[in-house]
Amino acid sequence: MDKKITIAIDGFSSTGKSTLAKQLARHLGYAYVDTGAMYRAVTYYAMDKGYITDEHFDKQALINDLPHISLQFLFSPEKGFAEMYINEHNVEKMIRTLAVSNKVSRVAELSEVRAMLVKQQQQMGAGKGVVMDGRDIGTVVFPDAELKLFMTASPETRAKRRYLELQEKGDKASYEEVLKNVQERDYIDCNRQDSPLVKAADAIEIDNSKLSIEEQFEKVMQLVQNAV
Ligand code: C5P
Repeated sequence: MDKKITIAIDGFSSTGKSTLAKQLARHLGYAYVDTGAMYRAVTYYAMDKGYITDEHFDKQALINDLPHISLQFLFSPEKGFAEMYINEHNVEKMIRTLAVSNKVSRVAELSEVRAMLVKQQQQMGAGKGVVMDGRDIGTVVFPDAELKLFMTASPETRAKRRYLELQEKGDKASYEEVLKNVQERDYIDCNRQDSPLVKAADAIEIDNSKLSIEEQFEKVMQLVQNAV
């Protein structure tokens, strides 16, 4: 048996990180952790409590409430992947809406939120044999990961992918709204003070604007073989 490694996948919004991460985890028999889902869940909670609206953001109220937020991934045999639960409620569907996407980067800027989630992510990946995707996995969560990938694609390619995904789920957002969200999130994610999105020095960059899902998988599997 090959030794188990940690695979860190970072990159801009809608670059296909989770598609690749899921494929790798399935193929290698590894656990998959979607860290974006955790930031989305905390955001959904903050929206539900009224801490963040279009008009205001009561950061302190959310920070004070963090000890009452319990996050869990529970595998759904029906769906074939782990769904996000917050305080034992399944929020998988709610966290994927454009309404949550529009607020998540502001919540993810808070150091208190990041500290709590990073700690949980490090615990989840402690045993290796994990594929984790996000924005700071190779830089902050697992700086010693054996394989680090940094995914990019043009903003238009990414917005188109996200738009089609939302359409499939019945979210009526327009392409322009989705493009604007992708660009705004990239800006906040790259410019925040705490753990901004940057390519780790030892990460391998993959621009998949012109790669099919299969081509990308083949290419990355080669990198996995080299890393193990
Ligand atoms: O990956 P996804 O697009 O679902 O992530 C949603 C948002 O969560 C990102 O735009 C970013 O603001 C935040 N995030 C983060 N750090 C991570 C994962 C996600 O700041 N590791």
